[in-house]
Amino acid sequence: MSSPPSTHTSDVLVIGGGIIGLVTAWRAAQRGFATAVVDPEPGGGAAQVAAGMLAAVTELHYGEQMLLALNLASARRYPDFAAELTDLTGHDLGYRRCGTLAVALDADDRAHLRELHALQQQSGLKSEWLSGRECRRLEPMLAPGVRGGLRVDGDHQIDPRRLAAALVAACERAGVVFHRVRAERLTVERDRATGAVTADGTALGAGQVVLAGGSLSGRLAGVPDDVLPPVRPVKGQVLRLTVPKRYAPFLSRTVRAVVRGSSVYLVPRLSGELVVGATSEELGWDTTVTAGGVYELLRDAHELVPGITELPLTETRAGLRPGSPDNAPLLGPTELPGLLLATGHYRNGVLLTPVTGDAMAHVLATGGLPEEARPFTPRRFTADALTEQPA
Ligand SMILES: Cc1cc2nc3c(=O)[nH]c(=O)nc-3n(C[C@H](O)[C@H](O)[C@H](O)COP(=O)(O)OP(=O)(O)OC[C@H]3O[C@@H](n4cnc5c(N)ncnc54)[C@H](O)[C@@H]3O)c2cc1C
Repeated sequence: MSSPPSTHTSDVLVIGGGIIGLVTAWRAAQRGFATAVVDPEPGGGAAQVAAGMLAAVTELHYGEQMLLALNLASARRYPDFAAELTDLTGHDLGYRRCGTLAVALDADDRAHLRELHALQQQSGLKSEWLSGRECRRLEPMLAPGVRGGLRVDGDHQIDPRRLAAALVAACERAGVVFHRVRAERLTVERDRATGAVTADGTALGAGQVVLAGGSLSGRLAGVPDDVLPPVRPVKGQVLRLTVPKRYAPFLSRTVRAVVRGSSVYLVPRLSGELVVGATSEELGWDTTVTAGGVYELLRDAHELVPGITELPLTETRAGLRPGSPDNAPLLGPTELPGLLLATGHYRNGVLLTPVTGDAMAHVLATGGLPEEARPFTPRRFTADALTEQPA
């Protein structure tokens, strides 16, 4: 469909100003591209809800070894990335190199954690098995019944709200233009993506368009069906509590467990905020906070750290993870010339922010993905790739 005459043009137009769209825009602008972001609320999105664990090792799952390499590459970049953003913007990101303790509360959890430990070791990752007593020595607020745990000193945390605000500031400094409005549809002319038309009818023209709409990425009108990203929303409810100064330090690192099959984590920030998350629900775009969700999180977190029921509950919120069929992101060019994707980061979008920015800037400048990002081409989900038979 052809577009109304463009009133704004840029080299790169990023649709969606969550942390992934913002880091893409920032890095593109640093490479000298005239860059624009279209989003009614840049810096909003899932980062307003996310816990911000940078958990390449404790989030390792069977069958996700390919994603592990990308997660580790991003984790390695975090110290320099955070320092660069802070130097540039003056924003404190709440980046805390505090490590993580994953604990087991019963024999089943313990067996599950032992398996995770074995997988980590096979994958060459650093983690240390601790007895229940050793876990409680590290974190005295843990329940007396803790049966053992894994100490992972390399899994850290950042405050995603601060990260999002810093990325907006970095983009502004780099000259990125913000259009604070929704993109209504992609414009395609002569089989090439050429920009977008916004909800107020403005035409935004661009040499290259990056679709980074998070869980909404598969819903943009005008994107041909065969390149629409297979991204779906996965709801997560999260609680925020406050640790009064007299209880500090309540926890000195992230503590997590699988309780009755559900994952629960407690992420302590230096500010005194304690984030407790998260549910995982396939309910479309629903972001209602439910009594059941809050109950389950508090019940499981209380089993892990009984003292949390003394803390003020300051916020309850639900957000949407952009899930993909293999839980890994879609990065780089699509079959439609001019259209690239940066989406599908699911439960690791905060962790993957640095490597995504670098990969997207590289592909925008050169047309090809860097080595570490090549397995994440959106082309792995095209009809041809899916019907290809192994030799
Ligand atoms: C409960 C929960 C806990 C999480 N915990 C962690 C964690 O501990 N560690 C971790 O690494 N990750 C975590 N994540 C995942 C992480 O938050 C996401 O992967 C990441 O924020 C996705 O960023 P995004 O920019 O791709 O998408 P989003 O944050 O969804 O942003 C998309 C943006 O696109 C905009 N948009 C969409 N459509 C349009 C349109 N048509 N026009 C204009 N703008 C549009 C939206 O307004 C939005 O601002 C968590 C997520 C949730 C929900």
